[in-house]
Order: sequence, then structure tokens, then C-alpha cells
Amino acid sequence: MMKVSSKGTLVVISGPSGGGKGTVVKTLLKLMPTLGVSVSATTRKPREGECDGREYYFISHEAFEKMISEDEILEYTTYCGNYYGTPKKEAERIMGEGKDLILEIEVDGAAQIKKKYPDAVTIMLLPPSITELESRLRGRGTETDEVILSRLARAREEILLAPGYDYVVVNGDGDIEGCARTIMNIITSQRSRTTRMKDVIDNFISK
Ligand code: 5GP
Repeated sequence: MMKVSSKGTLVVISGPSGGGKGTVVKTLLKLMPTLGVSVSATTRKPREGECDGREYYFISHEAFEKMISEDEILEYTTYCGNYYGTPKKEAERIMGEGKDLILEIEVDGAAQIKKKYPDAVTIMLLPPSITELESRLRGRGTETDEVILSRLARAREEILLAPGYDYVVVNGDGDIEGCARTIMNIITSQRSRTTRMKDVIDNFISK
């Protein structure tokens, strides 16, 4: 298994598509320069304005399956008909820079990560309501009706898994910065967990 640096924190952020994860994470990055977000690989087609290597590595189905068979993926899933996964290289690059690693991934991938790395902190970002989620998804205007309906169905399934997360944060009232600050506080407090402070404690005990 890939070694996760003992200094860095591994943070998983999930939440239904259209719930504002992307915007919240962008704000979070501005607040916490010690964070690095992994760029996932996907077989979905780029949306207008998305750039290869920035939002995602947009790759073919065959290329994705090759990465799986060559064990180059940390976790992956299929979501609304496409593969999405975290390339090991991305995670290693960010941790290599001594940063906390953020994975913005859906529920299935989050469960795989929590199983491999029980110390990872998992956060579910929820919209204030399903009605609000639907209007945000439609307002985005980037998906067809069929895709929107399939994303809404998936959103309902994902929200049911919220109790399995360490934290739930609601992205309501358009207060993106407030929401990012709540997540920042969660990440900061992780650094003081007793499990992370073993060396500090041992230092006192051995004296
Ligand atoms: P979208 O197509 O809206 O960019 O992403 C669809 C869903 O896939 C979102 O919930 C997003 O968080 C999730 N996702 C993005 N990258 C990954 C990944 O590498 N692994 C997993 N498991 N989910 C991902």
C-alpha cells in the first residue's frame, strides 16, 4: 500500500454533484495553502471551460482500464456511466510536497480510502435541500436532462451514506467562505488528534 506521510492529513470531501464542492474547495485552498488537491482521472468528456490536467485528466476508457490493471490507481469507481479515480502519482506528488492531501471524491471511493487509511478524515458536504440541489444542477446548464436526473438519483443514494462520514457540513445560504472555514477548522483540529501526537507524548514518557 502507498505510504501516507505521517505529517500530512488525508482529507476526503464528498457530496452530491451540484452541491458546490468545487467552489468550496477552491475557497478552502485560498485559506489553507498547505493543502493540495488531487487531480483525478476520468473517462467523462470535459465540460466547457474545463482543462485537461487542471479539473481532471480526461482519458479514454482503455487508458483508464490500463491504469487499473497496472495498479496505478489509489481508488476508483464508476459514476453515471464513467470511470473516476485518483492516480497514485497525484497523491504521491502532493504528499511529497509535504502538503495535506484533499480528495474530492464520491461515496464509493471515500469508503475505499477510509478502509485503506482509517486516519483519513471524511467530510460530507450537503446542499440545504434536494430542491436546492436540483435548481443548482439545472442552473449550471452544463448537463442534459437525462444526466441531471441520473445525478439527482445518485445524490439521494449518496446522502443516505452521510452517517458513515466523520463530519457533515451544510453548504447553505450561499456562504461559501463560512463553509470553507468550517472545513478548515475540522482539518486543523485533526492535527491535534492523540493518534497523531504519539511522538510528542512518548517524548514526555521516556524522559
Ligand atoms: P463530476 O462529473 O461532476 O466532475 O464528478 C462526478 C462525481 O465524481 C463527483 O461526486 C466527484 O466528487 C466524483 N469524483 C471526482 N473524481 C473522483 C475520483 O477520483 N474518484 C472518485 N471515487 N470519485 C471522483
